[in-house]
Amino acid sequence: MKKVIVLEHAAPFYEEDQILELDHAIDFATAAHAGQKRKSGEPYIIHPLSVANTLIEWGMDIDSVLAGVLHDTVEDTEATLEQIESLFGRDVAFLVDGVTKVSQARAGMQDLSNYLPQTKDNLSKLLIAVGQDVRVIIIKLADRLHNLSTLQHMPKDKQVKIARESLEVFGPMADRLGMGRVRMQIEEFAFSFLDPPEFKRVQNLIKKRLGKSTRKLGVVRAEVESELKKHDIKAEVNGRVKGVYSLYRKLKKVDGNIDDIYDLMALRIVVERKEDCYLVLGILHTMYQPMISRIKDYIAIPKPNGYQSLHTTVITPTKQIVEFQIRTYEMHDYAERGLAASFHYHDQKASKDYIKGRKSSTLPAQLQWISQLQEIAAKLGNNEEISKDQLNVDLFGNRIFVYSPKGDIYNLPEGALPLDFAYLVHSDIGNHAYSFRVNGSIHAFDKQLQNGDVVEVVTRKLSLPKQAWQDLVTTTHARNKLRMQLRQLGVIASLTGAANIIRRKSSHKKAR
Ligand code: MN
Repeated sequence: MKKVIVLEHAAPFYEEDQILELDHAIDFATAAHAGQKRKSGEPYIIHPLSVANTLIEWGMDIDSVLAGVLHDTVEDTEATLEQIESLFGRDVAFLVDGVTKVSQARAGMQDLSNYLPQTKDNLSKLLIAVGQDVRVIIIKLADRLHNLSTLQHMPKDKQVKIARESLEVFGPMADRLGMGRVRMQIEEFAFSFLDPPEFKRVQNLIKKRLGKSTRKLGVVRAEVESELKKHDIKAEVNGRVKGVYSLYRKLKKVDGNIDDIYDLMALRIVVERKEDCYLVLGILHTMYQPMISRIKDYIAIPKPNGYQSLHTTVITPTKQIVEFQIRTYEMHDYAERGLAASFHYHDQKASKDYIKGRKSSTLPAQLQWISQLQEIAAKLGNNEEISKDQLNVDLFGNRIFVYSPKGDIYNLPEGALPLDFAYLVHSDIGNHAYSFRVNGSIHAFDKQLQNGDVVEVVTRKLSLPKQAWQDLVTTTHARNKLRMQLRQLGVIASLTGAANIIRRKSSHKKAR
């Protein structure tokens, strides 16, 4: 990667003064990294330049691109954060600082499955960095992507460590940010280094299958295209192939039987308007027999990371099973670029809403996990106990969306209970929760919520939290709020004693 390539690449997208600043940043970084080499033997500067180039490709705002150029200067060179702030401004310095903290945290973190108490400080740095500005993680993903693409120059043990960490931390992070394409790229690289024989085996499996079905799929595609034309629907129809790692994971679920996988290859139909998506679905279901259990409306109920599309799997008259994904151009852009799409250089003002210090109530539902991270970070900072399970649930578990009766969306980890929801809405609602209605029916305190549930909390002024509720919350947020309230009520001490007596009594009874 050369300076002129980056500048030429950036030229059409940014203002003239921004390009000048980029030029300046590249000179600064080149001087700072002078004499340093990558493991490949190339000058070090090709790495930050590649990262910046990727960020331009993702359409990130200029501050992120500048931070991409400068991201390793504070950690690896004589350059200081103060210098960067005075030369490139506070925002850029803030981002560089965040990226530096993440790398330092990572160094002590190892992989999460070996999560140990002494890594807490490092981890909390990571979380604080992420929580304050999600662009830090986007820059980190670009950084990781380039490091993975040059991983062959690393010693074997490092390759495995970095590959595993990529699959366990960075892939899920990209997914959480809705960055589908990046997630797939990370997984593809990482998997190929972590388990080369298995990677090759699955890759060959895909090749063999595709050879068989590409021509048949071409026929279906032509049929669909001509039918859409008849209905005057402007659409782009493309084939998409499942990623190697994602197929590998799915194969494990179906005992390795590739015949049970219907979406190895799918046809993607991209249209202009949301209404057209449903029209297209109707047309497809008139042409072919849909498999009823596989119709998914992720437009009305998006996936927790914000992904939207209609999915359907149909059986053609020649008994071919084909999956279709139907979406608008806008949804397609989000599915590929995810949160990065929100920091587009075109509307940098709008993107300010996502940045720094916003309360969870103003964040879109798919971003609420960011403020939840900040809470975990604060807790870690206070040296409070947090279990590995807790951490995994909050950070890397799957997420669900639930709704208030008014239609506000809330994002919770999978397995969340009604009280988690109540405390997420407001701590007063949690504290005075009396009963729950989910989708109109009474719902027990210990029954898990499902994606798409409409949850109503019935509150009573005189109803107060109980000690036993500690087993009825799963999120860190709800647990913190509940404990705080219990402490305030002074019930912890007195009730623990009382509860033990009651428990002892009842077990005596049972024993008799
Ligand atoms: Mn780097």
